[in-house]
Amino acid sequence: MTAKKNRNRRNRKRFLFAAQNGKCAYCNKPLTIRQATLDHVVPKCMGGPGTRDNMKVACRDCNCKKADKPPHVWFGLLMQGLVA
Ligand SMILES: [Zn+2]
Repeated sequence: MTAKKNRNRRNRKRFLFAAQNGKCAYCNKPLTIRQATLDHVVPKCMGGPGTRDNMKVACRDCNCKKADKPPHVWFGLLMQGLVA
């Protein structure tokens, strides 16, 4: 990865972090910028674009819980309030 791409990625994280008021996209837990992880809503391996629309900041817990689940399973859990 080039230095330029690294910078873009960091800026995107800051942008999303601010847009979400510094809270996890999934459990609403307040985060610091260091705690926040950048998450693909639809994973890249499932055809999710690397665009801002498809990115959220999430806490490490949620990102780990989400990592092994396909999106429809994850969203089902979210809808039922089973994630937080
Ligand atoms: Zn969370």
